[in-house]
Formats: sequence, C-alpha cells, structure tokens
Amino acid sequence: MIIHHISEKNSILNQFLAELRDVEIQKDRMRFRRNIERIGEVLGYELSKSLPYHPKEIKTPLGSLEMQLPQEDVVICSILRAGIPLHNGLLNYFDRAGSSFISAYRHHPDNEIDFEIVVEYLASPSLENKTLILVDPMLATGRSLVSVLEALKKMGAPKEIHLVSVIAATEGIDYVASAVAEGTHLWIATIDQELNDHGYIVPGLGDAGDLAFGEKL
Ligand code: URA
Repeated sequence: MIIHHISEKNSILNQFLAELRDVEIQKDRMRFRRNIERIGEVLGYELSKSLPYHPKEIKTPLGSLEMQLPQEDVVICSILRAGIPLHNGLLNYFDRAGSSFISAYRHHPDNEIDFEIVVEYLASPSLENKTLILVDPMLATGRSLVSVLEALKKMGAPKEIHLVSVIAATEGIDYVASAVAEGTHLWIATIDQELNDHGYIVPGLGDAGDLAFGEKL
C-alpha cells in the first residue's frame, strides 16, 4: 500500500484538524461537517496529482491551447453515515464523478467489546476499470474498509483504488495494508498511534458520525 500522510508537512490542513478534535469547537455540527468536507477537498487535490492525465484542446475566446486533464472515470464510494461530509468534499473537486453508497456498522453481540462489521445497503454504478475512491473519515481497526472492499467486488474490478481518511490509527493502517493490493493508495490527513478497547482512535476526535449528524439510538 502506498501511504500519503498529508499533514507531515505543515499547512492550513492542521487548522481544520485542530477544530475537528477540539472538544468545544467540534460541538458546532455545521463547522464539524464543513471541516471534514474541507479536508476532503485538500485530500482530493493531493490525490488528483497521482491520476492519469490526457491532452485536450481547449478553445478560449482568443485562441486555443492543449491542456492536460484528468480522466473522467472516478467513482467515489462512502461508508454511511459518517462518510457523507468527506464524500461531499471530494465531489466538490471531482464534480463529474459517480457515487456509491454502502452501509457498514459495528455490531456488538451482547454489548460486548468485541464487534463484527455488518455490511447491508449498497448502491453503486459499475466499478469495472474505474478509479475507485473509497472514503471513511476514521480508519480505526480497518475492518470496515476491508469488509466494504470485499462487498464492492461484485460491482466490478477498479483499475485503481484510493482510500481516503481524515484520521488513521497505525494498527488500522497495518491491517488494511495486509489485506489490499500493493498498488492501493491511502491518503490520510493525519495518523494517531492508539486505539482504545472499544476500537476508538486516541486522541482522535470521538465519534465522527455522531458529531456530524447527532447521536443515534
Ligand atoms: N469511528 C469513529 O467515529 N471514531 C473513531 O475513533 C473510530 C471509529
């Protein structure tokens, strides 16, 4: 797996990340969603540098020139529900991309700490020969991402896979790396070292889905 750790170099991204993590600022749901979306835009821009480009003749009112443009074969897939603001951020830049939605949640049998990943809803165009961008804001254990990639196989074989996360735990990165093809890219805003007993990233930011959309029953 090819890992792109974007906050290794200081940029305005640090400000968005700090606001997501800050226990007071993150209470503003709209700002929380918008900061995730802004990070999606930054990661999308970085990712765009690795895509294949082809020449296209562009006519201006005064003449014409050849420009290098990215191929329009991108499908963005997000894991419901926490993935939606990150998905929107990517769509802001890849405005003609197709979209897939899949649900994956942690099922805790008997309320125990251990959990299994349940994948239910899937709505997707064909992924055959497409550039798949799979977004999940919190790459914690990595089990949802790997289960979702498995479930997406029936939609066709993408020619490239890019995974996009806001915060990733080292353990989750290692797990995903052991399960995906070598050429898979991982674009992450930042990396935290720890996972707690409940599979939450520490220091992380808390529950991204709840912070973006409110607590669920
Ligand atoms: N999902 C979250 O929302 N937060 C974590 O820390 C881990 C998974």
